[in-house]
Amino acid sequence: MKQSRRNFLKFAGISAAGLCLTPAAGALASGKAHPIVNKAHLKAKRWAMVIDTRKLNTKEQIEKLADACHHWHNVPKIPTNQDIKWLWDASYSESFPEQENNHMAEELEERRFPLLCNHCEHPPCVRVCPTKATFQRADHIVAMDYHRCIGCRYCMAACPFGARSFNFMDPRLHLDMDNLNMKFPTRMRGVVEKCNFCVEKLAEGELPVCVTKSEGAIVFGDLTDPNSPVREVLRKDFTIRRKPELGTEPGVYYII
Ligand code: SF4
Ligand code: SF4
Repeated sequence: MKQSRRNFLKFAGISAAGLCLTPAAGALASGKAHPIVNKAHLKAKRWAMVIDTRKLNTKEQIEKLADACHHWHNVPKIPTNQDIKWLWDASYSESFPEQENNHMAEELEERRFPLLCNHCEHPPCVRVCPTKATFQRADHIVAMDYHRCIGCRYCMAACPFGARSFNFMDPRLHLDMDNLNMKFPTRMRGVVEKCNFCVEKLAEGELPVCVTKSEGAIVFGDLTDPNSPVREVLRKDFTIRRKPELGTEPGVYYII
C-alpha cells in the first residue's frame, strides 16, 4: 500500500472514531486549512484586466497571444465556422458597436481589438445555467466545470459578448496529440468553453498566459486594491468597456 494512502486511512480511522487529533489534523478536519493549496497562488477580491490598445492592435500581435492561450489550454483549431475561440480579434465597430460614430479616426478604424470573456460582475451566463456548470468564483472569475455541462447552450445565448464556443465535434480530433499541454485537461464533444482568466496559472502564482506574452500591453490585478497595477493604469488613462449599457459590469477594460 502506498504511504499516502496508508496515512489517509490512518487519519480517516482516527477521525471516524472521534479520537483525539493533533492540532494540525484538527485544523484540517475543521476546514481551517487545506492540504492542496499552493502557498504561492495569487489572490484577489476581484480580478480584472486592462488592455492597452495603443500598444496591442494588429491581427498578428493578437494571433500570437491567442496561439499561446489556445496551446496552453488545448483549444483545438477547427478550420470551419465551428472553430473554438478563447481569445480573438475584432474591429472597433464589432467590439464597441454602441460607441461608434460616423467620422472616426482612420487609425482607430484600422485597429484590431483583442476580445475574450469579460468575467462580468453580473454574468447572465451564470444566471441561466441549469446545472451550475458555469459559476462565479469568490474572486469573480466566471469558471466552467466541464463535467457538469450538459451542452444546452443557454449560456451561449445569454452572453451578449459571443465569448463562448460549443464543441460541436470531438475537439481531440483537432488537437496535435503529440504536443498537448499535460497540465490542462482536454474537453469532449458537447460542452461549452471559454477563457478562464488562467485560474490554473494564478493557482501556481503566475499571471495569465496572454498577460505574460503581451510585453506590458495587458495589465492584470485586483480591482478592489487601490495599489494594484490595474488601478494604477485606470487612474492614468481613459478606458472603455464593452456594452456597458447592459449592466453586466465587464472585468476587461480597454485603453483607447
Ligand atoms: S463575457 Fe459572456 S461568458 Fe463571460 S462572464 Fe460575461 S456573460 Fe459570461
Ligand atoms: S486570460 Fe488566460 S484563458 Fe483568458 S484569454 Fe488570456 S491566456 Fe487565454
